[in-house]
Amino acid sequence: MRHHTNWARNIEYSAARLHRPTSLDEVKEIVAGARAVRALGSRHSFNTLADTSGDLISLEALRQEVVLDRQARTVTVRGGIRYGELAARLQAEGFALANLASLPHISVAGAIATATHGSGNTNRNLAAAVSGLTLVTARGEMLTLTRSSPEFAGAVVALGALGIVTSVTLDIEPSFDVAVSVYEHLAWDTLLDHFDAISGVAYSVSLFTNWARDSVDQVWLKQRVDGSSGALPTPGQDFHGATPAPVRRHPLQGASAEACTEQLGLAGDWADRLPHFRLGFTPSRGEELQSEYILPRVHAAAAIEAVRSLAGRIEPLLQIAEIRTMAADDLWLSMNYLEDSVGFHFTWKLLQPEVEALLPVIEEALAPFRARPHWGKLFHAGADSITALYEKLPDFVSLAERLDPEHKFRNDFLTRHVFGG
Ligand SMILES: Cc1cc2nc3c(=O)[nH]c(=O)nc-3n(C[C@H](O)[C@H](O)[C@H](O)COP(=O)(O)OP(=O)(O)OC[C@H]3O[C@@H](n4cnc5c(N)ncnc54)[C@H](O)[C@@H]3O)c2cc1C
Repeated sequence: MRHHTNWARNIEYSAARLHRPTSLDEVKEIVAGARAVRALGSRHSFNTLADTSGDLISLEALRQEVVLDRQARTVTVRGGIRYGELAARLQAEGFALANLASLPHISVAGAIATATHGSGNTNRNLAAAVSGLTLVTARGEMLTLTRSSPEFAGAVVALGALGIVTSVTLDIEPSFDVAVSVYEHLAWDTLLDHFDAISGVAYSVSLFTNWARDSVDQVWLKQRVDGSSGALPTPGQDFHGATPAPVRRHPLQGASAEACTEQLGLAGDWADRLPHFRLGFTPSRGEELQSEYILPRVHAAAAIEAVRSLAGRIEPLLQIAEIRTMAADDLWLSMNYLEDSVGFHFTWKLLQPEVEALLPVIEEALAPFRARPHWGKLFHAGADSITALYEKLPDFVSLAERLDPEHKFRNDFLTRHVFGG
């Protein structure tokens, strides 16, 4: 297989073959017959997590099925569906997902495999919305797990290591509208003194910074207009001393806001407001790398100071950084496992060697706060450090041994960063 790259084009997959099966039987056959096999989602990860030396399986060509259960308030979908497509289907039926990531382009199975998240003190990551899933395991057999299965909490954020997730059931709720207001130049001291209040003032809050300027560049407040997440900001008024942006903004200073979802306090569907970027456009910059570190929210102020102390080394490599929050969940390999969290996200310039040289420095600065790296982005920590961060990792390793005794779903990345050896 040649020249299949990830979205950022910093990874060329080394797999021998890329399959696009059109039926579940075909998926089972490929897995049963493979020596090494992995699922490929929409390729938005920045590292080699999805790669394999053997067979890659994309579920893009499987017929999409969206099965809504209005009574149970769930939707069951194929793992390969993208959030943007699912969101449009749900919205048309009057339903919503609780939250979305910054972009709607990613696949559901790929996103939950890495505990992808949006923001909000009371919003859990996207994987926490999963109430059931079906996977094709190493022998080509189907396994369905639900919240009542003992191994379920280990099988949602599973890094593709347990099998090919062919269908996922997600919690849904009645549709809601959201209004996005952007403010500029929030003083660092104000943020440090009032972190919980600021990150909790709206349903979803994002802070954008380059770490070096003397204030936080932008504060995005995404508020539900049904009043369930607090009052809407008063138009035109300052927010903790930050001023309302007079026009739509892109997080990157000077970039066109055309790719961004609606702002300026104009209410609209959750599906069109919760992501920062619109489905038909390139999200973020397009030419970039990303890293993110997630740690307990109680350490937010101290951790912000720790990262700011590295601003002089970070800023030359950085396009933009984002600070978000997530509520705790109970998924074994979730970066938010049992911790209300804050995430420090970095959108880097395409300078991979320089970025990779800096990551250990950032990881050292954040180590006192037990920062967990985002599984789908660039990080340095090896299996030893990762093991210390996840108390349920030994249970995950046992689960993987049981479901995949021949290690078909292992790859170099998982050996280096998760399983060790
Ligand atoms: C521009 C951009 C913006 C981003 N914004 C955010 C954000 O707001 N929040 C955030 O948390 N992350 C964000 N990410 C990271 C992204 O959400 C994760 O990397 C996510 O895992 C990508 O999903 P994917 O479908 O592209 O998966 P891939 O990158 O293709 O695969 C990721 C992992 O999922 C596994 N996988 C995929 N499909 C299946 C399946 N069917 N069964 C089993 N395993 C499977 C793969 O084997 C691999 O281990 C962003 C990435 C980009 C490029």
